[in-house]
Amino acid sequence: MTARVLNGNAIRDEIYAELASEISALTAEGIHPGLAAVLVGDNPASHLYVNSKIAACRELGLASFLLTPPATIATDELLEIIRELNQRDNVDGILVQMPLPKRVDTKRIIAAVDPAKDVDGLHPTNLGRLVGGRPNLIACTPAGVMEIFKRSGIALEGANAVVLGRSDIVGKPMALLLMHANATVTICHSKTRDLPGVARRADIIVAALGRAAMITPDYVRPGAVVIDVGQNVVTTQAEAERIFASFPEKMETFRKKGSVLVGDIHPDVAKVAGALTPVPGGVGPLTIAMLMCNTVKAARLRCGSHVRADAAVRP
Ligand code: NAP
Repeated sequence: MTARVLNGNAIRDEIYAELASEISALTAEGIHPGLAAVLVGDNPASHLYVNSKIAACRELGLASFLLTPPATIATDELLEIIRELNQRDNVDGILVQMPLPKRVDTKRIIAAVDPAKDVDGLHPTNLGRLVGGRPNLIACTPAGVMEIFKRSGIALEGANAVVLGRSDIVGKPMALLLMHANATVTICHSKTRDLPGVARRADIIVAALGRAAMITPDYVRPGAVVIDVGQNVVTTQAEAERIFASFPEKMETFRKKGSVLVGDIHPDVAKVAGALTPVPGGVGPLTIAMLMCNTVKAARLRCGSHVRADAAVRP
């Protein structure tokens, strides 16, 4: 069996087309959604992610504002920046790129963002609404995974779903969304016993571990749907060979660039899974697309507009 590829780029394009018409309708009402991105320090991966998010704003005609405080910033100074952004009327969404430097109290920063502008869906109010089944702004990556299921015709009701990872940003909201969609959900983490055995019972696996190619075919029931959230950069020849022994084009990328991106799912899983998201080009594009959706939704709700896209932006 070769798994059906769940193409995140194609789904992203579909969502952008829907979003573009909603943005035009809002513009006609005089509403111009805006996203402020706060990028602390000079972590190269964070710069890459924020640049992609700003580029998406430009592509869709959303306003964007980039703030780049130094890595030495104190929690109180960052709180002051957040307070100012909370007050600004031309800012509908506030994105604080994670991870923050260790000296910054991340939980205080997240809690300081106005829940109505919390386009990452991390504020306790938004997490609480999600727990209660009345979500407003939902964390972008799990929301994007739900779009993959919906737009690929993957039924969730009654399915056994195993979520690998329990972070606040991916694993926990993912598990809640699946549960609200009537899947039977198991959440796994580093203390789970017999992870391969638990994973093999799944009709649907969502892997968000941050462990390069850890999930090999023996974790996957033949025909299962496998969603790979992981984004890991492999930089050593030995690891690249271990993972990509039968994928010469990936080894070629490694030789040219000195690194190669790999998910949490081993590429051999494509031989057993029924459907699989690629890395890159699977979940990643949806994370950015849902950030755009959340920004537009936040603008619409803040301005009390009645304009709403049918599918891209959920009630
Ligand atoms: P995280 O905060 O580090 O959480 C990782 C989770 O995986 C934890 O719950 C951890 O368990 C569990 N885990 C780690 N090693 C394990 C093992 N050997 N066995 C079982 N469980 C294990 O990571 P995250 O922020 O959720 O991100 C996960 C991955 O997704 C990363 O690769 C990240 O880059 C990627 N990501 C991608 C996107 C995207 O747009 N595609 C967005 C966000 C994140 P404990 O809780 O017990 O420690």
